[in-house]
Amino acid sequence: MSAQIISGKSISDTIREEMRDEVDQLKQAGITPGLVVILVGEDPASQVYVRNKAKACEQLGYYSEVVRVPAETTQDELLELIKRYNEQANIHGILVQLPLPKHIEEKAIIDAIAVEKDVDGFHPESVGNLMIGDDALLPCTPSGVIELLKRTGNHPAGKHAVVIGRSNIVGKPVAMLLLRENATVTICHSRTPNIAELARQADILVVGVGVPKLVKKDWVKPGAVVIDVGVNRLPDGKLCGDVDYEDVLDVAGWITPVPGGVGPMTITMLMANTLKSAKRTQA
Ligand code: NAP
Repeated sequence: MSAQIISGKSISDTIREEMRDEVDQLKQAGITPGLVVILVGEDPASQVYVRNKAKACEQLGYYSEVVRVPAETTQDELLELIKRYNEQANIHGILVQLPLPKHIEEKAIIDAIAVEKDVDGFHPESVGNLMIGDDALLPCTPSGVIELLKRTGNHPAGKHAVVIGRSNIVGKPVAMLLLRENATVTICHSRTPNIAELARQADILVVGVGVPKLVKKDWVKPGAVVIDVGVNRLPDGKLCGDVDYEDVLDVAGWITPVPGGVGPMTITMLMANTLKSAKRTQA
């Protein structure tokens, strides 16, 4: 039997629809959620992401600013810009599009963003709050993964979740959120010798490695939920995930496509974080 397809696009549309009422109420109370996206340089992929973020803001009636600065911008100039937006009351979320040019230290920039406006969830204090289970703005892609699971009835509680990849933006926070949702979590990475064997034990398999079609059908337990975070560009220009979708389709119970799976959730969770941050400013 073929796996059920998890459409991130349609789940994302539903969440945005649900957010509309909250946005309207907040606006009636005099607060318009505001997001600033800062783009340093002209990386083509980043340009597309930034455009999509601005479009989502427009669709939901947010206030949004896109600040484009040249690749030669110094670290001090960027820090100064962040300081300005930290203090600007109509801005509830600050996102600095990564990657940054080599001469700018990413950590210094992330650390400078006010925690309450850290809608990417990358600030060390946000990460710490996630770790200890305190209220926090959660990183967007990982929280999107959890939404996909819950909204398809695949609640992580009591399940064995295997996460392949341990980056700070995908693997580690996904693992931590799954743990918070009461899954039993195994984390694999490039130094794990027996990944296929571990992956085959997963009720929920989350893959974020950046290797096209790494996961084959013999890595997947029949009926498992497979969430593919990977986005890879093939030589023919097409996008593919870290999971060999066609190969795994007959074994998995549920699977996310690439594109149209995890991807659309990331921007929606960014919108949700901005809304949450704006709501917090209500007296
Ligand atoms: P990353 O920082 O390069 O981390 C990759 C992780 O995968 C590392 O932990 C690495 O292990 C592990 N890894 C690499 N090759 C492996 C292998 N052969 N077997 C097992 N583990 C392996 O990448 P990332 O930023 O987490 O991104 C991962 C993927 O997700 C990329 O395709 C990226 O484009 C995609 N992504 C998508 C979204 C979205 O919105 N859909 C958002 C973010 C990222 P080590 O730690 O041992 O090196």
